Amino acid sequence: MSLPASAPRRFVRRFLDALPGDPDTARTSRQVHALWSRVDPTPVAEPRLLAWSQPLAAELGLDDAARDDARTTAVLAGNALWDGMAPYAACYGGHQFGNWAGQLGDGRAITLGELVGPDGRVHELQLKGAGPTPYSRRGDGRAVLRSSIREFLCSEAMAALGVPTTRALSLIGTGEQVVRDMFYDGNPQREPGAIVCRVAPSFLRFGNFELPSSRGDVPLLRQLTDFTIGTFFPELGAPGPATYEAFLREVAARTGRLVAQWQAHGFVHGVVNTDNMSILGLTIDYGPYGWIEPLDYQFTPNTTDFRERRYAFGNQPTVGMWNLARLGEALLPLFGGREAPIEEGLAHYQEAFREMATDLYCRRLGLTFDAHSDDTTIIHELQTWLQEAEVDVILWLRRLSHVARMPSAPTAMPADLLACWYAAPEPGHLARGLAWLQRWHARVRAETRGQAAAADAMDRANPKFVLRNWLAQEAIDAAHGGDLRKAHRLLGVLRRPYDDQPEHEDLAQKRPDWARHKPGCATLSCSS
Ligand code: AMP
Ligand code: MG
Repeated sequence: MSLPASAPRRFVRRFLDALPGDPDTARTSRQVHALWSRVDPTPVAEPRLLAWSQPLAAELGLDDAARDDARTTAVLAGNALWDGMAPYAACYGGHQFGNWAGQLGDGRAITLGELVGPDGRVHELQLKGAGPTPYSRRGDGRAVLRSSIREFLCSEAMAALGVPTTRALSLIGTGEQVVRDMFYDGNPQREPGAIVCRVAPSFLRFGNFELPSSRGDVPLLRQLTDFTIGTFFPELGAPGPATYEAFLREVAARTGRLVAQWQAHGFVHGVVNTDNMSILGLTIDYGPYGWIEPLDYQFTPNTTDFRERRYAFGNQPTVGMWNLARLGEALLPLFGGREAPIEEGLAHYQEAFREMATDLYCRRLGLTFDAHSDDTTIIHELQTWLQEAEVDVILWLRRLSHVARMPSAPTAMPADLLACWYAAPEPGHLARGLAWLQRWHARVRAETRGQAAAADAMDRANPKFVLRNWLAQEAIDAAHGGDLRKAHRLLGVLRRPYDDQPEHEDLAQKRPDWARHKPGCATLSCSS
């Protein structure tokens, strides 16, 4: 097919050309002893472009004319290809909920190609929900509109918050129905289908390394690791024993920093299996994720994890480390069987996590970290206090900058903070909160940059707008009725999460009562 004038033209085949693949293009489920399988997306009936990320499109060299071109929609729906695209599904394994699951692979994601952007950076374009692949097992290879809206919005919201993440270029309605048993209760329903085009330098996961290692295929493991280092970590130097160790340490540090950012922002991923861990330290695979509104370390939005709570908010830091240990074990043959590099990797993870978490929390509280002061105590006291009652953490932290600007410490709980409680505050809790405010206020006053500068910095560290689950759910409900305006509005507002945007005050509210137990708001099924 011919290209629109504005379409991207240059694709590279780093992954395909460097690494062994499975030449069989059949979609039948099978074990694959290679790193990818060539497979084309399955066309859909009536593709419609429902949402588009303009800033990301600009990074890719796609302008508004490209967006409005029907051929672009066809490509992003999997109905057509641009010249140079060579679609494939990646082969990977993973530990799911603590157990080795063997081969998994891209069961419904298909990489279209690696696009060279105008600045020379390479971006992998991947369709999620593009139809069956050799890794689909019993799945249909498709995705529903509700989960696709959630992935699209959250990818872009996370990027705007500054948290490393895969991105989302487009949301396509397929015009086809997908059958899902959302509550796993024997009540399958037909739902509108959708496809998100995800974008990242690479979608490689821990699981890509685990699978060849689990099969004892050291040459394949080494080939993949050499490719990954050479392409994404060139600063580590030429592949070799010392570089493999440095590679694990670097992945560890990135993962530690990533999980620290999840914790500081109150993001609960929901399914932190090793196949959902990016080797680049990006947030990847948005499923039943959620955001902390009242602080609850036991909170998980994922209904299939309600009993074990393996992936609850408070467990994410240890789970990140557990996953890293699995990656380290997978790399063991490259370390000549020595376990010391794994220990070092885990130590790097912990150090990176601690540093980043302290830094982010200090920033949220307007403090320039001072190891000699009692900054860490101030942070821990706040965290403990927040857990003791239902207080909306997002609003509480955002509004603290008002207090930081007060010339003297408050003598009563300020009204805008009082409004952050979900139920009437208990007097003892209130008194302890006020005492904390006073101690913290004195510490902010001691900032050498001055209170005003500290308060301004707080406004750049505490988002006002977060993709609370019920906001996403309202946008999904409207989209099911054919109205995308709420989704578009959220996308625009969440692009500037730290700006005041007073006209969007209704999107910066604590969770309404109706959302407390509504599916999609407090709880989410994995069925997507
Ligand atoms: P996830 O829980 O989304 O990370 O998916 C775990 C594994 O199941 C991956 O290998 C996915 O590709 C696969 N998978 C999930 N949903 C589907 C589907 N509808 N069709 C085919 N494969 C799927
Ligand atoms: Mg996954």
